[in-house]
Amino acid sequence: MATTRAGTLYVVATPIGNLGDLGARAREVLAAVDAICAEDTRHTRQMLVALGIERPLLALHEHNEGEIAWKLVERLRGGECLALVSDAGTPLVSDPGYRLVREVRAAGLAVSPIPGACAAIAALSVAGIPSDRFCFEGFLPAKASARRERLAALARETRTLVFYESSHRIEECLADLVAAFGADREAVLARELTKLFETVLGDTLESIVAKVAADDNQRKGEFVLVIRGCEDDTAARLLEGQRLYAKLAEHLKPSVAAKLAADISGAPRKGLYGGGGEAGG
Ligand code: SAM
Repeated sequence: MATTRAGTLYVVATPIGNLGDLGARAREVLAAVDAICAEDTRHTRQMLVALGIERPLLALHEHNEGEIAWKLVERLRGGECLALVSDAGTPLVSDPGYRLVREVRAAGLAVSPIPGACAAIAALSVAGIPSDRFCFEGFLPAKASARRERLAALARETRTLVFYESSHRIEECLADLVAAFGADREAVLARELTKLFETVLGDTLESIVAKVAADDNQRKGEFVLVIRGCEDDTAARLLEGQRLYAKLAEHLKPSVAAKLAADISGAPRKGLYGGGGEAGG
């Protein structure tokens, strides 16, 4: 079979740290396409130089994807074949490419995957946390209030949760996770996978917070958090009830706030005051 077919967009996964993880087919396709669409052309050029591949590069990032997708569709219609890569891992997974793929498919042209590294899957594969059902949440919102709201909505999710996080926010993010999911929730923090300082920390959110606080190095690099889904949702209901109570009590009588918070969250009214005190009956 020929390496590439005319008029096809190849979505090529690239390594997340270790160049040796690039597969043989990915190399062949990158060397054979008419051009490579890359999130950061300088970054991709370095990888291509290391591989001894020289192909034209086109910048495709979140700010220009909408504008240039149709031009790329025209090139494919004209019989060219193109590759799409991101800086690391699988394009479209918390990376650009969704709009382009959608337009190419809408034009009736072929889109073909060249699978490879993905940080979320790599982390899941070493976490030892149930992986039969999981949900990928990508990056949490940068703004604290939005992040806490998102986590509150996920506290009772029963599937394993997978998050991406950067070094800037890892500590804040861990603190918010403890507040939303409870200190005892089983979790794994996978850092710098496939790189020199790869570390995989467990086994509860509380223990991860302690290890990250105790060692500056554990706050450096790139992270994936894998968190066990909610099993016994009593604790999650209580946290949700307390959160609702605190909000509602700003505007309502304590007894009314407690009744509403208990009805909505399913938590017992007792304990909604946060410190375990009485909550109006
Ligand atoms: N498309 C990529 C993929 O398939 O994994 C993800 C791109 S996203 C912009 C970058 C985030 O992925 C990082 O902030 C980090 O959360 C995660 N990540 C990427 N490489 C990683 C690595 N080597 N170890 C741990 N996490 C990594």
